Amino acid sequence: MTSHIARNYAPLPVEIASADGAWTTDTEGRRYLDMLAGYSALNFGHRNADLVKAAKDQLDRVTLTSRAFSSDRLEPFAAALADLCGKDLVLPMNTGAEAVETGIKVARAWGYRVKGIPEGRAKIVVAENNFHGRTTTIVGFSNDDDARADFGPFAPGFVTVPFGDADALAAAIDDDTAAVLIEPIQGEAGIVVPPDGYLTAVREVTRSRNVLMIADEIQSGLGRTGHTFACDREGVVPDMYLLGKALGGGIVPVSAVVADEDVLGVIEPGQHGSTFGGNPLAAAVGHAVVTMLATGEWQERARRLGEHLEGRLAPLIGSGVTELRCVGLWAGIDVDPSLGTGREISERLLARGVLVKDTHGQTIRMAPPLTIRPTELDWAVEQLALVLRT
Ligand SMILES: *Cc1c(COP(=O)(O)O)cnc(C)c1O
Repeated sequence: MTSHIARNYAPLPVEIASADGAWTTDTEGRRYLDMLAGYSALNFGHRNADLVKAAKDQLDRVTLTSRAFSSDRLEPFAAALADLCGKDLVLPMNTGAEAVETGIKVARAWGYRVKGIPEGRAKIVVAENNFHGRTTTIVGFSNDDDARADFGPFAPGFVTVPFGDADALAAAIDDDTAAVLIEPIQGEAGIVVPPDGYLTAVREVTRSRNVLMIADEIQSGLGRTGHTFACDREGVVPDMYLLGKALGGGIVPVSAVVADEDVLGVIEPGQHGSTFGGNPLAAAVGHAVVTMLATGEWQERARRLGEHLEGRLAPLIGSGVTELRCVGLWAGIDVDPSLGTGREISERLLARGVLVKDTHGQTIRMAPPLTIRPTELDWAVEQLALVLRT
């Protein structure tokens, strides 16, 4: 039968019918351990009881008002999220790409209205091999050919520098630079961790040159790295956080831009918006997510489980694994090309009941839900070891 789904994805051959915690079940009743967790959108597991309860309670009250009216859910959510981030204001959107687009608009408006950049000249410095989403503006400053080719013309105003090179970044800044936009750890690129001190150096140069530091924490934030934000690893506080994925608890899309009044306060009524952004259902779920993160227990759990996972994966280096990058409960595993492509390894793992996804050819990304048990991690790594031996 011919599918009616546009071919913008090449999913692994599995049809998931239900899920609970770290486990999914397909239409034939086969069970799979989810070691991808929706690219970190499912940090708290499938159908997390607290989050499902928050959603169900809200479904019985009010789900959508549009921002033409206020709901009793938005202010408590915004206050809690601002508090988690140590910032003043929250601008709620839906998807990650929208949060990035919003961040770009805010940074440009700040550049003209606060910094005094001459009209039409604002520049934003970005990093090579970035992934910030799929809109036309965002793919315009990607250097991934699949993401860009035939989708131009692209918006000007972006300057690309190598990721992890603070000197190159400093050299790219001039009087027209409004912001630096980076992922503190590059997720789609294969869990690429910058050298120690990079984020600190970016923070120092942006502060001294009066440039905003925007951290895209859409994948790295909200517990994944063993910290609330990947920037916390260096004690760095950016001017703007871009959040998404896990903020929606795996239930609804929820994203947000979080910054102080002197930055996000530049946006006035009518200058930006979204029909669904900040809707009561999203706010109820997002608030429940923030409440869970406020105690620090999930971050601690990610740290502990991450050490466990790294300990199990490390012996595979030289036995099918050529390089391993682990941060919190997040692993980029480069597989020896002679054993197959990342895609082939993912398919072999699927046959053994483990869900992972390849990225950029030879890399397997593991980002299991933070609810997973150490014994389940052990089992997943055993399956990987078996797959690499065949
Ligand atoms: C996933 C992701 C995005 C885009 O989020 P969508 O919800 O898919 O639009 C942006 N930035 C980073 C770092 C991401 O991982």
